[in-house]
Amino acid sequence: MKLKVLASGSSGNAYLLTSSGRSILLECGIRFEEIKKKLNFNFDNILGCLLTHEHMDHAKSVTNVLAHGIDCYMSQGTADALQLNHHRLHIANEQFTLDNFTIMPFKVEHDVKEPLGFLIYDNITKEKLVFATDTPYLIYRFNNVNYYMIECNYDRDKLEENIETGVINHSMRNRLLNSHFEINSLIEYFRFTDLKSCRKIVLIHLSSNNSSDDFQARIQNATGIDTEIAWNQNIELRLYPF
Ligand SMILES: [Zn+2]
Ligand SMILES: [Zn+2]
Repeated sequence: MKLKVLASGSSGNAYLLTSSGRSILLECGIRFEEIKKKLNFNFDNILGCLLTHEHMDHAKSVTNVLAHGIDCYMSQGTADALQLNHHRLHIANEQFTLDNFTIMPFKVEHDVKEPLGFLIYDNITKEKLVFATDTPYLIYRFNNVNYYMIECNYDRDKLEENIETGVINHSMRNRLLNSHFEINSLIEYFRFTDLKSCRKIVLIHLSSNNSSDDFQARIQNATGIDTEIAWNQNIELRLYPF
């Protein structure tokens, strides 16, 4: 698999996941012009767009994406919140397939009606990826996952420090605690997760104020898995060599 990060963070999220020559757009939370430019105006082989929830940093371009002829997959709650009605809109209640991909939506926790994460499996290469963002924890554990694309939003100590110094408004605090993944919670999640098949962890949606430079090292040290922070780059996801 290959991952192209178009944008990651609270000001916008969009990723292109490619496997066996076909691609899925994950989120479309930046201007459509920007998506087009970053994809070199090439939408060939894009099978669809998966949306986790309705916040604009994930869904900003959804009407353009639909209008451009790309099928979009999301929960009913997300579709309702975005007031979408389009023949290319699909409600993702259960497992579905897009060509070589089998996609299983799963519930996450966020301050919206019906947020989702996605387990993505390539039937040809047998690679499995978990995509989860905007959630303070994961309810589920998944077997034989090769790659995690997972939110690592903030550090509790850094957040408290920012509140004390007035960088972050106190009212933001509870919202963050209940709706985004904190680094120590993520480490805790991985501690009790079987990572024997895991080859790469990609940390996404870092907060610009409340994250710190050592996130990559902390997750890599805690898990022993090659870890990268998403920031507009191309990432090779490979089973071998490792
Ligand atoms: Zn977000
Ligand atoms: Zn959100």
